[in-house]
Amino acid sequence: MTATTRHRHWIDGGDAPPDGGDAPPDGGSRLTTLDPATREPGDEIAAGTAADVDRAVAAAERARHGWAALSPAGRSAVLHRIADAIEADADTLMDLERACTGKIPAQLRLEVDLSAQYFRYYAGVVRAAGQGSVVEQGAGVHTYTRYEPYGVVGVITPWNLPLNQACRALAPALAMGNAVVAKPSEFTSVSTLRLARLASRAGLPDGVLNVVTGTGPEAGAALAAHPGVRRLAFTGSVATGRRLAEVAAGRLIPLTLELGGKSPLLVFADADLERAVAAAVAALAANSGQVCSATTRLLVEESVHDEVVERVVAAVEKLQPGVDFGPLITEAQYEKVLGFLAGTPGAVTGGGPYTEGPAARGLYIRPTVYARVDPAARIAREEVFGPVLVTMAFRDEADALALANDTDYGLVAALWSGDLARGLRLAERIDAGQVAVNGGPLTVETPFGGYKRSGYGREKGLAALHEYAQLKTVSAQLW
Ligand code: ADP
Repeated sequence: MTATTRHRHWIDGGDAPPDGGDAPPDGGSRLTTLDPATREPGDEIAAGTAADVDRAVAAAERARHGWAALSPAGRSAVLHRIADAIEADADTLMDLERACTGKIPAQLRLEVDLSAQYFRYYAGVVRAAGQGSVVEQGAGVHTYTRYEPYGVVGVITPWNLPLNQACRALAPALAMGNAVVAKPSEFTSVSTLRLARLASRAGLPDGVLNVVTGTGPEAGAALAAHPGVRRLAFTGSVATGRRLAEVAAGRLIPLTLELGGKSPLLVFADADLERAVAAAVAALAANSGQVCSATTRLLVEESVHDEVVERVVAAVEKLQPGVDFGPLITEAQYEKVLGFLAGTPGAVTGGGPYTEGPAARGLYIRPTVYARVDPAARIAREEVFGPVLVTMAFRDEADALALANDTDYGLVAALWSGDLARGLRLAERIDAGQVAVNGGPLTVETPFGGYKRSGYGREKGLAALHEYAQLKTVSAQLW
């Protein structure tokens, strides 16, 4: 077993002891992380307080003017170097992420690669799209718009895709000239701390990116409430999102909310069933279903429903814990998923934890499929956030659309049909922020965000760049 590392906050370009500069190196209170693949304790992080948040916001406040004063090209150069640094440090980042999430190597690789891509992408687009425009108002007038940063942005992220979700918000926020205080999940903070260190080494000025670790109710709440924070970006649960929206409403500051989903995957009888089945299996296996955009409601046309379910179940039963999918990341989430399973008898496959073998040591749950569920059942309506798929059969296109939209959420939908016109027709009528037809890719370039209870605001794509800026109009009468 390797020795425990005690991590400090990252404030003003250095690793700061918790609770103020005078604390001894090991002072302040700490939280222990857990390796969910083995349930063994891992590194310790600082349990941040309002005082730590104060110091981080003050550092960001001091740094923000200089950073915002750089040209987009100047900031772009630093962002490119951060992307280089993430790529060069990928093995360490993957190790750190694995130690507190138990993720499988392919998933870690994907997330770290994507983390670098966010910096690369926003380093590029800010040079072309970070500037305003001229508004023509006739002779004697010069009017133009400028995008200006908010100042200090608070970024609060969850435990399911820790580094990746941090970079998704940080890259556009920094590109537009904001300074950031990030508060990663208390379960998975270490990769975000490492990122801040890498960014500093890559030339990001001190104080432009600060990371305060700690719990949501203490460090997270202090960050959201801090008068120096002018905008928030949050990814996480609906309950916490609602609480933060209330705080933001009270302070009249904007926020982006990336919340949950119960996204449908529609399969018509004329679809390429092999690819559709693979997509359904991936929805359950990728990150063990701990993805807000996981398409875990499998809606299948009646004539092929049983065949599709049979094929999905056969593929799911071949999945190996620790090889094809990881554990649940937190103990609370593990218990929550087990609670869903205990309350829903009749799984076609799976339905509980592993009771023997190496997987029994960790927070692994058997990939689970429930067929022909009642659309009103809890398992059909609530986000499970685990390796659990429910299926329902539909009669025709109208029925498929009604079932797809019969949810409080609206993050993603996937649709498979041999009739592309039908795919696009339904894509226009499904209430979701993004619809993938026949495996259409959703990448760094594609705006991402929710309809309905899945949240508001957009991450990724060009849309996110402008979320982190406010538009100013300047108009001059020339004579
Ligand atoms: P989960 O319940 O899945 O852990 P949360 O939405 O509670 O998801 O957590 C997402 C992020 O929000 C984490 O960084 C967490 O610490 C933070 N958080 C939780 N509660 C609060 C709160 N009251 N104020 C601010 N941040 C919070």
